Amino acid sequence: MNAVKPGIAIAGAGLAGLTLALALLQRGFRVQVFEQAATLADVGAGLQLSPNATRCLYALGLEPTLSRVASIPRGKQVRLWSTGQRWKLFDLGEAALADHGFPYLMFHRADLHAVLVDALRALQPDCITLGARCAGFVQDASGVRLSLHDGRVVECDVLVAADGVHSALRTQLGHADAPAFTACAAWRGLIAMDLLPERLREPVGTNWIGPGAHVITYPVRGGALLNFVGIVEGVPWSRESWTERGTREACAADFRGWHEDVQLLISALEPQPLRWALMGREPLARWGEGRVTLAGDACHPTLPFLAQGACMAIEDALVLARCLHAHAAQPDHALRRYESLRIDRTARIVRGANEAGKRFHNPALADAAGAQAYVDREWSEEKVRERYGWLFAYDALAVDVL
Ligand code: FAD
Repeated sequence: MNAVKPGIAIAGAGLAGLTLALALLQRGFRVQVFEQAATLADVGAGLQLSPNATRCLYALGLEPTLSRVASIPRGKQVRLWSTGQRWKLFDLGEAALADHGFPYLMFHRADLHAVLVDALRALQPDCITLGARCAGFVQDASGVRLSLHDGRVVECDVLVAADGVHSALRTQLGHADAPAFTACAAWRGLIAMDLLPERLREPVGTNWIGPGAHVITYPVRGGALLNFVGIVEGVPWSRESWTERGTREACAADFRGWHEDVQLLISALEPQPLRWALMGREPLARWGEGRVTLAGDACHPTLPFLAQGACMAIEDALVLARCLHAHAAQPDHALRRYESLRIDRTARIVRGANEAGKRFHNPALADAAGAQAYVDREWSEEKVRERYGWLFAYDALAVDVL
């Protein structure tokens, strides 16, 4: 790989790495993605993508393929853990389109991943190298040598570490930040929609809120499945994993005393739910150096309480591809420009997600009368607009990369 258009190596074929690879290939770069997994497995559960992310994916020409696997919610509602009382949070569907020009979509992560993989392979069939675990790199002013775990060495002009929350390459960039266990865990799983009664099949996203825990549900795979995420405080285990499974019984025990609809949802989870310990990390003030940078969870892992982790990864990809395109002759400058455009926004989102957790789990929700006053105050139309408006309005295609 050399001069003219830099050759880019990307560590990790997650949502950040794949979106970046596609945005770069479309701009004429030579790109290779190195993924540690031997196969691209069907991992994860649901993901919500707000208009700030769908705007980016549509710009990559993915609207037709995404629309085949997405669910379009009518809106979002809040429900109280004990009585099941409902409050409208905001409208989505046509309203999101009218407000932001792009839809709010809900996916099975595997479906979204497959859309990206197919689009990439249509442009360059051998773009993703599987079974390629990135171990480290050395760089000088003329390029980067990326070492794989099996001894192979890859030469490239730029290296982007999109290797997720446990990024090995981030550590080599001097970020030895130890994550702190939040004592919160996420139960994640899927439910066949046709197993549920009519009242739980609405095309809406629901945030069940309660003291010390909350539950998020929303339809995915065109409404064939309901995604379930149950977040609970005070758990003893602390492993972040896409693939570790618990049991329905243990999940139900964490939501004992919650509304019968929540119990019903947990009993219908099939297969057994995944569980993921939630770790808190301080946002980084600096990401990369020289010809190496970070993208996605590798640089701004976040609690999922604003549903923005993947959205940020997708925004990163578009801004980084645009910076590299605009400054192709000076890759290190391109990377610093990208970082300067992204660090403040992503840090604000990470902090905002921490705050959202406190709101969802507030002790004031314990009794229904206290809950009414709390919801009226915290989820007023004005506060909701203030919390989400700036997130959704961001335009990764318009930020000034020069
Ligand atoms: P990943 O998807 O983790 O991908 C990293 C890739 O790198 C993987 O394929 C991995 O195998 C590979 N890899 C790792 N190490 C190496 C190595 N050394 N060499 C080569 N490859 C390597 N976000 C949203 O926007 N909306 C939501 O609704 C939402 N809900 C969530 C709910 C929960 C419970 C959780 C835990 C997260 C949620 N997120 C959500 C966050 C979102 O899932 C992540 O932010 C997103 O997947 C990050 O993408 P990524 O590509 O950076 O990392």
